[in-house]
Amino acid sequence: MIENKFDAIVVGAGPAGTSAALVMAQSGLNVALVERGDFPGSKNVMGGQIYSKSLNEIVPEFWKEAPLERVVAEKRFWFLSKDSKVSVAHKTPKFAQPPYNSCTVLRAKFDKWFVGKAIEKGAFYIPETLVEDVIRDNKGRIIGVKTGRAEGELYAPVVVAADGVNSLLSKAAGFHPELSPENVALAVKEIIAMPRNRIQDLFDLEGEQGCTIEIAGEITKGMVGVGFIYTNKTTLSVGVGCILSDWVNYKMSPYDLIEEMKNHPVVKPLLEGGQIREYLAHLIPEGGYNAMPLLVSDGFLVAGDAGMMVNGLHQEGSNLAMTSGKMAAETIIEAHKKGDFSARCLSLYKRKLDESYVIKDLKKYRNSYAYLEGNRQLLTTYPEIINNAATEFLTVDGVPKWEKQKKIFRSTLKKRNLWGLIKDAYSAWRAFG
Ligand SMILES: Cc1cc2nc3c(=O)[nH]c(=O)nc-3n(C[C@H](O)[C@H](O)[C@H](O)COP(=O)(O)OP(=O)(O)OC[C@H]3O[C@@H](n4cnc5c(N)ncnc54)[C@H](O)[C@@H]3O)c2cc1C
Repeated sequence: MIENKFDAIVVGAGPAGTSAALVMAQSGLNVALVERGDFPGSKNVMGGQIYSKSLNEIVPEFWKEAPLERVVAEKRFWFLSKDSKVSVAHKTPKFAQPPYNSCTVLRAKFDKWFVGKAIEKGAFYIPETLVEDVIRDNKGRIIGVKTGRAEGELYAPVVVAADGVNSLLSKAAGFHPELSPENVALAVKEIIAMPRNRIQDLFDLEGEQGCTIEIAGEITKGMVGVGFIYTNKTTLSVGVGCILSDWVNYKMSPYDLIEEMKNHPVVKPLLEGGQIREYLAHLIPEGGYNAMPLLVSDGFLVAGDAGMMVNGLHQEGSNLAMTSGKMAAETIIEAHKKGDFSARCLSLYKRKLDESYVIKDLKKYRNSYAYLEGNRQLLTTYPEIINNAATEFLTVDGVPKWEKQKKIFRSTLKKRNLWGLIKDAYSAWRAFG
């Protein structure tokens, strides 16, 4: 029989919920962390890069013990046409030294370790338990949750909904409208096994270092989205994600798109000989700032994906989840000191988020998806233009470089006229600048 009264209940043992539970437990609060999966990470999908800054603030020097795959020493960006790529890459010793910038992880291993840290600090972990609803007192304040277990009511003066993109709990609390297809991406991912030495050679890696490749252009067929290849120890995480409404409108199947991506002439050689170990699909809340639900009410806070906190353009989600989970915990610790769990007192959480990179970055890119949806030439015409230009300029064929430049200019204007180029540059600067 589970003791059913806590100082706080956290629903969902992903990066947001586990961070919140760990920080509260560390400060001595009696906190329940409820997870529907058989084990932490069993229901979770991620690229998956975790970012050191946010995790290091919760588990200092985490790299000494966390089950990391590789340290991301190099970040590569590819712009693909039908058969070519233009790439940009950045590699620096700064990324390869502690505290690192980011590391690749497999969620099934990482989440188990992370929840273990929360348990070590004193959090009460309740696995295989689906939270179905909130419990309210006669004044309508949230005072606990109903789970799918017999006699499964849990009580606390404050509940954190960290139950991911499709947050059942926020919906039950009346925070979250149904997700609209424009505000979520559907991502598919394969884990492809490959001998370590082959990964080192193919991706030109040293020791435990790894790289990430973000891929834009041809592979999404004009849909708003990106592909990725991340290196792990003896596997690759390979995937592609696009806005859900585009999958529907373009009548694309996720299986076909990832197959086409894997068979692209530039991608295929990197995957040759690999064996598919897992095929996963998951939603990503990419509606950004404009689509964020209410995050605070009496006795209730929303963190991570449940609160639409994903910066899709930078492939950041786990860090926003961890930071928001930590800030929710710090707010609850203050609320306990005051004995006040009203929305007014808990609004400290919103102020902390507003002052942090979480809301500042989400605000910065608030119009970027709408912009991309209305300017698909950026995903189709431009990768073609830059690939053609690179081929022309780098081909040594006796044609003087001035003539080549003129030829590139003329062929560019055939694809996008001058006014279109100026307009695109200006509006891109407005949307992303
Ligand atoms: C394909 C893909 C690639 C990604 N790549 C990256 C990346 O490289 N880097 C990055 O930073 N982010 C990435 N993201 C985003 C990142 O995964 C999320 O932003 C992050 O996991 C959000 O954490 P969270 O704790 O809010 O939610 P989640 O990780 O979704 O965790 C929510 C948890 O709540 C549990 N749960 C849900 N409902 C209930 C319920 N009713 N009762 C009990 N438990 C419940 C779930 O089982 C789950 O464990 C990627 C996402 C996808 C889909």
